[in-house]
Amino acid sequence: MAAKKKSIKLLHCPTCGMLVRPTDEDFPFCSDRCRKIDLGKWAMGVYKISSPILDPEVLEDLGDLSGGQNRGGNGDSYDG
Ligand SMILES: [Zn+2]
Repeated sequence: MAAKKKSIKLLHCPTCGMLVRPTDEDFPFCSDRCRKIDLGKWAMGVYKISSPILDPEVLEDLGDLSGGQNRGGNGDSYDG
């Protein structure tokens, strides 16, 4: 008869690359720390999907908008 082969599939922790068992509490991460690090990456925008705008035309438009604004001085006078 065919003997049942017990095979445990090991995965690598996405954060540090350590081997993790599916039975582990923090699977697929090796630890709670690595899980939080991975979440932090998402929060900080490391895994950005959109790319920044680098069109020269757009930059020119932005340059045209800024500048030419005069800010008057404040009317506060300090009498020492
Ligand atoms: Zn890890």
